[in-house]
Amino acid sequence: MPGGTDQTLRPFLWRAERMYPDTEIVSRTHDGTERYTYDEYGDRAAQLAHAMDGTGVPEGERVGTFCWNHHRHFETYFAIPTTGRQLHTINPLLPDEHIQYIVQNAGDRIIFLDPSLAEKLAGAYDEEAFESVEQFVVMGAEVPDVDLDAVDYESFIDGHDTSYDWPVVGEETPAGMCYTSGTTGKPKGVEYTQKMLWSHTMATMSPQGLGISDDDVVMPVVPMFHVNAWGMPFTTTAAGAKHVYPGPSPEPEDIATLIEEEGVTVTAGVPTVWLGLQEYIQAGNDVDLSSLESVIIGGSAAPKAMIEWFDDRGVTVDHAWGMTEMSPIGSVSRLKSGLAEELSYEEQIDKRAKQGLMVPGLEFKVVDDEGEEVPWNGEDFGELHIRGPWVTQEYFKRPEANEEDFEDDEGGRWLKTGDVVTVDEDGYIKIVDRAKDVIKSGGEWISSVELENAIMAHDGVTEAAVVGVPHERWQERPVAFIVPAEGVDPDDLEAEVMEMLGEEYPKWWLPDDLIQIDEVPKTATGKFSKKDLREEYADESLVEGQVPEESAPDDD
Ligand code: ADP
Repeated sequence: MPGGTDQTLRPFLWRAERMYPDTEIVSRTHDGTERYTYDEYGDRAAQLAHAMDGTGVPEGERVGTFCWNHHRHFETYFAIPTTGRQLHTINPLLPDEHIQYIVQNAGDRIIFLDPSLAEKLAGAYDEEAFESVEQFVVMGAEVPDVDLDAVDYESFIDGHDTSYDWPVVGEETPAGMCYTSGTTGKPKGVEYTQKMLWSHTMATMSPQGLGISDDDVVMPVVPMFHVNAWGMPFTTTAAGAKHVYPGPSPEPEDIATLIEEEGVTVTAGVPTVWLGLQEYIQAGNDVDLSSLESVIIGGSAAPKAMIEWFDDRGVTVDHAWGMTEMSPIGSVSRLKSGLAEELSYEEQIDKRAKQGLMVPGLEFKVVDDEGEEVPWNGEDFGELHIRGPWVTQEYFKRPEANEEDFEDDEGGRWLKTGDVVTVDEDGYIKIVDRAKDVIKSGGEWISSVELENAIMAHDGVTEAAVVGVPHERWQERPVAFIVPAEGVDPDDLEAEVMEMLGEEYPKWWLPDDLIQIDEVPKTATGKFSKKDLREEYADESLVEGQVPEESAPDDD
């Protein structure tokens, strides 16, 4: 069985180790900045691979991580998939119940976790849900005092051989996994095959993608539990570029310091992160951004003012759109050649604030309610359907979601994105609405349906609808509309509902506002009309107002 011709991650690791042995991987940790080279990275990845073999967890099984962005997490990125196992990155910001569901659904055999997240994981631990988990490994040299049977990472890999015969792994082998919150119900698992990660890496590395090269210094601020930090650890390695990882819950000051000290040229994150950096600089902190060439902004729409702010500092914003289902990058908005000469600066900003041009390798169509494709005129809109080598074909163990979210025709299988878009004459897509009723706050999903069900569990509530309303810092925040039952004291009700939600959900999930109404507006088919509610809320301009700090999806 010769093999070795498939599209897999192995050659990326091989190339970086051999051709860029001295290029650095830098990581902010609780104990200060740690740095080593690809040469040492390769040694440690090999040691981790041997340690994994020692656990008896066979190829094809899933291994979870519950970690921020750092070098040890990055070591799992190659060592797990390149031995034929599957790396499942778990989002530690989720409510405990979701974490339990995800671990159980994935059947993770081992979970690597950060010391700062150990308490969170111990809190979510449930014997039945975690039945498949044989071992916890804490990312550090010590195990904190928590109620989990864990070993420390350094002892786990210590003493193992620093070379490893990486096996032949087929390109259809699942290499990664991430859960998305989707529209309704439980999170849905998306598996990334070796080929999906390979093709996503090649496409995003290209100039028509994110354009990463060996002279770049790449810092993903987007968490590594968010669709592999948008694939950047793989892309950076493939390019032989320097990695910078900002560690646990980085503050604007940490991000600024790393940019300055490490000479970061490319960084990536959701708009909330960059708003934080802007405010830090506007507050009088002197930050040297001169090394920075581009900031990849995605997950939510990049505001025009943000694109201009970076322009003024000589930094290009690459506005990217993507989804967990597509590994995740789909489109990038930058000016097509020639357009810069044709358009005024204002028009250019309008273009760049769109979700942009599909990355080479993907196809899309935009379909209206009648199933007809809409013309590319920048006005007609419909749901965006997409397909390509790094777009998933199905959800993990969720046949009913497969029925809803995919559609086949003679050309192949389309993913129905749930994003409602227009396409202009130049091929730029622009999101104008979201068919899915989930709320995205600071880059993290909040399930409106789940909050509604939780609120309606209160005896004093007859109906509840939760919608996302625009917010300057978090892009969207949840607001609940509730119909009180007869004879209920409105003041007591609000306090009781908030208390009840607070017991079940993290603080950043809690609605910013509970608005009592007589009836929830309905659509023709009797569904809650969230569009009407959002508009009503906007009309009353209740939107303003600073959300308290605890609305931040952080690690506490
Ligand atoms: P991600 O890791 O990109 O946040 P998710 O699967 O969590 O992936 O979310 C995907 C959804 O987020 C998209 O379907 C879209 O609704 C929204 N989204 C992602 N990027 C953008 C963007 N640049 N502008 C507007 N919405 C976006």
